[in-house]
Parts: sequence; structure tokens; C-alpha cells
Amino acid sequence: MFGAVIHAPGDVRYEERPDPTIVEPTDAVVRTVAACVCGSDLWRYRGISPVPRPTPIGHEFCGVVEAVGDAVTTVTVGDFVVGGFNPSDGTCPVCRKGAHANCLNGAHYDGAQAERIRIPWADGTLVATPEHPAEDQVPSILALSDVMCTGWHAAVSAGVGPGRSVAVVGDGAVGLCAVLASAQLGADAVIAMSRHEPRQRVAREFGATHVIAERGEDGAARVRELTEGIGADCVLECVGTEDARLQAVACVRDGGNIGLVGVPHGELPMNDLFWRNVGVKGGPAHCRAYLPHLLDLVLARTINPGLVFDLELPLAEVAEAYAAMDERRAIKSLLRPRSA
Ligand SMILES: [Zn+2]
Repeated sequence: MFGAVIHAPGDVRYEERPDPTIVEPTDAVVRTVAACVCGSDLWRYRGISPVPRPTPIGHEFCGVVEAVGDAVTTVTVGDFVVGGFNPSDGTCPVCRKGAHANCLNGAHYDGAQAERIRIPWADGTLVATPEHPAEDQVPSILALSDVMCTGWHAAVSAGVGPGRSVAVVGDGAVGLCAVLASAQLGADAVIAMSRHEPRQRVAREFGATHVIAERGEDGAARVRELTEGIGADCVLECVGTEDARLQAVACVRDGGNIGLVGVPHGELPMNDLFWRNVGVKGGPAHCRAYLPHLLDLVLARTINPGLVFDLELPLAEVAEAYAAMDERRAIKSLLRPRSA
């Protein structure tokens, strides 16, 4: 089979790789219907995170089960499935608390931007749709594999709900999904921070009540104008850079909460946050905990997170999918294997 391998910063290649097989009885093998490029893949593509050796890449997918190990009971050959970016066993004490991202037996995919993927812990990771979905729902189901669960996690971590004002830092796919999550969770005001017109449009479609283009202190001042002069109850930080983290600190009100889901590449001023009584929570999303509910919302056409995909390419053109996102020509690239 073929799949994407990152060799060095800026160098992602589509090349032949061994076909995945069932290694453990808890495994499945999925034939990829759609995969995509993550903002977090760009950390390596941009040379910010190291690439010590050629490595298969990608962790977002949906597809059809081709094989299952003897111990797998909840999915079967032929099922259409989606799984989160972080496989979990679903049975350890941490998973039983709903914190699947921190599964005691957590595992990784060996590159999901590929024609086939080995899925560790198939029962604890995959969720099957009741029937094969309509073609136009595939992008939204794919978005559940990471960005929608991650945006949801930001909102849940910050306590978003009715009566709350929310500011979202970051207008990438995760930030846009955090807007969608906040609206879905009943927030009163959802302020999207974006200065890119196409992304502003998606934010409004996802339920943003206000879009502000300013950044830094000007951006924080605009958020205060919209929140009785005090800042947002909940700020969702969906980038991870130091600038974005400090933007979140500047936009939250005293006694409010910051939900962090951007992969951290900068410090937080914890002493300042202490005196301001600001709560900070977040991390990698508990995808498997959120997937059943979010999949129901997608299949009922209540939410359509697939709108974040504004570029679709054959998997063979994965290098261009990375370049387009790196150069911000695309919010998020969807990839289709030729066999799909
Ligand atoms: Zn677990």
C-alpha cells in the first residue's frame, strides 16, 4: 500500500509502505475512506518539532473495517468507522473515568495518511456508524477524528454552557470547531478572533455571534467591550504558540476559565493567573468519550464540522496538502486514497 512519510521539515512523500496486519488480537485494520492533515502535523513540517528519521505521519481518518483480531467484539468487517487520534483501550481505570486521552495503555497510529491503517485497541477506539454514511457526511465524520473532538474538549474544559461568554483564540480548524462546540453547548456569546475572511465566514456559519479581527491588547480590549468591560467567562486557546496563550490570558475575565487545546509551545504566567482566580484546564481531547454524542449530531445533520475542509486532494498529492496548509492557502486538507 501507499502512504505519507515525513522525511524532514518541508519534505512529506507519498511512498510504498508495508500493508498493516493484525498484530494483537485487539487490533483492527481499516481501509481508509478519507484522511486529513492536522495543524499539529505542521509542527514537524515547519521544523519546530524534530524529525529524527523518516516517519509515517497522520492520525485522522475514517474508513471501512477490513480485518479484526480475535478479541475485537464491537466492530466487524465491513463496518464504517471513525476513531480519535489517540487510541485508548476503553477498559483501564482512567478510561472508565472518561479520560481516554490519558489511557494507561494509550497507543499511536503508524501513520494514518495511508491507504490502510492498523488500529490498536479497536474496541476502545473505533465507533461504527449504524450504516454506511451518505457521501456528503464523510467530511464531517472525518472531522470527529480530531478537530471537532478537540474543539469540543476546549469548550468542555473551560466550562462553556448557557449564560457564558466565550472567546476563541485561533481560526484554524480546531478554533472553528471550538466555535461550533460553544454554540452547540448553549453559550450566550461566542466571539471568534480571526482576520481571514473565509475563516470568519465559517465561524459565523458555526455560530459565532461576534468576529473580531484585532489581536494583542487591541483584541483583548474588543473582547472586554463585548463583555461588560471584564473579559470573557471562557477563553478557548486553540493554537499553542506563546502569543496565542498570552492572548487567552489577556481575554479571560478574573474568575473565568481558559480551555487549552493548542499543543503548547510557550509558557503561561501561572502566578498572574493565580491572583486573578483563573482556571486553566485542557490537553489532548478525550475523543472516545465524545465520539458517540458528536457522531449522533453529525448523522442527524445538527452539526457540520466538515466545513473546515476547504481543499480536497488525492492522497497521492499529500505533499501539496501540507504546503497549502503551511502557506495558509487552505484551512484544512482532506485526502482521498485512490481505492476509496
Ligand atoms: Zn484506558
